[in-house]
Amino acid sequence: MTDAFTAPGRFLRGNLHTHSTRSDGVLPPEEVCRRYRAEGYDFMALTDHFVGAFKYPMVDTRDFRTKDFTTLIGAELHAGTMQNGEVWHILAVGLPFDFTPPDQPWFAPHETSESAATLATRARDAGAFVAVAHPQWSGLTLADARTIEAAHAVEIYNHGCYAGCDRGDGFAINDLLLTEGRALSLVATDDAHFSEPDHFGGWVMVKAEENDPDAILAALKAGHHYSSQGPEIRRVEITDKAVVVECSAATSVIVQGKGTAARAIHGHSMTRAEVLLERFRNSPWIRVTVIDAAGRRAWTNPYWL
Ligand SMILES: [Zn+2]
Ligand SMILES: [Zn+2]
Repeated sequence: MTDAFTAPGRFLRGNLHTHSTRSDGVLPPEEVCRRYRAEGYDFMALTDHFVGAFKYPMVDTRDFRTKDFTTLIGAELHAGTMQNGEVWHILAVGLPFDFTPPDQPWFAPHETSESAATLATRARDAGAFVAVAHPQWSGLTLADARTIEAAHAVEIYNHGCYAGCDRGDGFAINDLLLTEGRALSLVATDDAHFSEPDHFGGWVMVKAEENDPDAILAALKAGHHYSSQGPEIRRVEITDKAVVVECSAATSVIVQGKGTAARAIHGHSMTRAEVLLERFRNSPWIRVTVIDAAGRRAWTNPYWL
């Protein structure tokens, strides 16, 4: 099966989750795009909160595209109620400007709201790449997460949730869903509001032949990406006995699978590691984490054995 490392094209660095003054962010859309471009990103999606109080913003960032930087149109969608009684947050990138809003005036759940599952399905059907946003920050349960059948991905790292409440990850829910057989990919994002150190901390590396919104969207849907806080992953090869990982200088290369299945190789400035698969005989899937000397991580999408 083709993955990010065997797909044709080149890696593009992008942030899929960002806010501006069109919802509760601090900076106007133009300045948000300028900063991501100045930071060396190849693309970003502005995903303001799609609620009535902000006039259901589907912000047009096309004017901020340049020959080496593109933008995807998207929003953070809200509807329905999680088991904890709070409203859902669903990330949708690649939406049309005329996407029909749910009846969601504000972040308060209400009885006649559309369900999050229906809203996510509508977004996917409209062409979006859909991700379950910040599971830990939301206090999401596994039962909640199961209902979003339209999700392509789980946000496994959200830098804003890390900066603002030290609940940045979504691995527990993600790994349980994988074990239930859900073919999900992983995304790291910033969720930047520029109100605190919530930017340039987690991104996706998407392999695409063109730096163009359609090509990026297709690659995301195909799972041709990995997620990172810094380290590069250059190749993953799975043989009968082992996973071979090539990466930028790492201190740990870890393979995880179902339940307690995991195996780590530690060292200094490792750019290649071979992790034996023996421990993963009972796991239908594995994924790889690379950690550098500064503690920054990169994460592959799952591989099905
Ligand atoms: Zn959110
Ligand atoms: Zn957000």
